[in-house]
Amino acid sequence: MAIGSEVEHWDVVIVGAGIAGLAAAIALRQEGRSILVLEKSSMNKEVGALISLQPNASKIVNGWNMTPFLEEKKPMVDEAFRLLNIEGKLQVEMKLNTSQFGADRMLYHRQDLHDALRQAATSDDMPGSPAVIRTSSGVLGCDCDTGVVHISKGSSVQGDVIVGADGIRSAIRDEVIKGSASEGSKAIPTGLSAYRILVETDKLPKLDISEDVFSLKRSATTMIVGHDKRVIMGPGRGGEMFGLVCLVPDPNPNNEGTSWNNSAPLKEVLEAFAAFPAWVKEIISHAPDVALWQLRDIDPLTTWTKGRAILIGDAAHAMLPTQGQGASQSIEDAEALQAYLSDIGKEASGQDIQERLEAVQRARYDRASLIQAYSRLQAKPAASQDNKTVKLNPQEFMEYNCNYSGAKNWVERNREAEEMAYKQTAARA
Ligand SMILES: Cc1cc2nc3c(=O)[nH]c(=O)nc-3n(C[C@H](O)[C@H](O)[C@H](O)COP(=O)(O)OP(=O)(O)OC[C@H]3O[C@@H](n4cnc5c(N)ncnc54)[C@H](O)[C@@H]3O)c2cc1C
Repeated sequence: MAIGSEVEHWDVVIVGAGIAGLAAAIALRQEGRSILVLEKSSMNKEVGALISLQPNASKIVNGWNMTPFLEEKKPMVDEAFRLLNIEGKLQVEMKLNTSQFGADRMLYHRQDLHDALRQAATSDDMPGSPAVIRTSSGVLGCDCDTGVVHISKGSSVQGDVIVGADGIRSAIRDEVIKGSASEGSKAIPTGLSAYRILVETDKLPKLDISEDVFSLKRSATTMIVGHDKRVIMGPGRGGEMFGLVCLVPDPNPNNEGTSWNNSAPLKEVLEAFAAFPAWVKEIISHAPDVALWQLRDIDPLTTWTKGRAILIGDAAHAMLPTQGQGASQSIEDAEALQAYLSDIGKEASGQDIQERLEAVQRARYDRASLIQAYSRLQAKPAASQDNKTVKLNPQEFMEYNCNYSGAKNWVERNREAEEMAYKQTAARA
């Protein structure tokens, strides 16, 4: 696959070592390719928060045999989704069981999941060649046709394939969409902000609430909805930590802040959630600190690929966290790269590579865009006018989101469904 240039050459250059970039490195290392991951940060601090992998992603991760790396991180199986109204009354309990989708919904500390992915991407004990991660290597842009990637230090590298996994403010995206109808597309404010809180469970007092309604020990996700706000919370790291994401209307949607980690005063959260049950405020009041995260997403792009480059993860389809599918869709992207590039040889031409990347986009685009749209839908205020009931139906998107067995299987399923619909229409005619 060599392009013939003087710059340092790699089979694959991945830009961004977040969940999407590391997952892509794990997926693509299996065939013994040389993989370079370029990461802007020094990677010594991932965002402190909990994160879930849904069954659609857990199934893929299980297939990567990275259990030794994950096991020690004390992952937890999320056994149920429980929806409460603002009075703390249980509205819906949806049991989550493995048998339905072939894998569990797993809860992780974000740092732990990130760490395990990094270890699996670079370990000598995984199949194929370990990826190399270069930190403090911010990418300025790339040439999608030649595969040359420009790094902020003034150096360049060249990849047969460039994977743009550089998040919602992607530099690679700007290059990929140049000249397309999406040119200039940027992260957009969604009108929502989230306070994020992580507490050590043993620092919390006994809560004044019946365990039938809520227990810190229950391995479940609990959502409380009231007015235009909601709290989503659950345990992590084997129950040692308890995490909350508290969604509120964004008071300052046009703020150009870039961080997920602006700090916010605890008083502000307690005021915003004054109408919520006392036991929830008790948990919040023990937060060692509060991070404020302005929620942004992007509109579906008209393309994710150009020449030798493809966008994945938030760079391609940043979505609201309301369905907890952001990381899971990144894992699906990585698996799709593996599925469509696994048998591509070292001598493949730029045209061959482009066609494979376009096949990845065809397999993934409709599904990821729909989940992006569902996530916006799920963010709409969900409390009834009298605030007593919750209009969300957690079951609604579950089957579509979680019943997934890889990109090629998805394409085949859709082909069969279209064929069936065609036959039915023909029979009726
Ligand atoms: C607090 C929080 C909680 C979340 N909870 C969930 C959840 O429960 N479930 C879920 O599915 N999703 C969740 N998400 C969303 C999810 O984390 C992302 O959708 C997912 O991780 C995909 O991210 P990514 O790797 O594409 O992008 P990012 O995580 O943004 O990673 C991009 C990486 O690229 C690097 N980078 C950026 N620009 C450059 C550049 N120019 N050059 C080199 N490197 C660059 C960044 O430093 C970063 O390391 C959550 C997100 C946050 C912030």
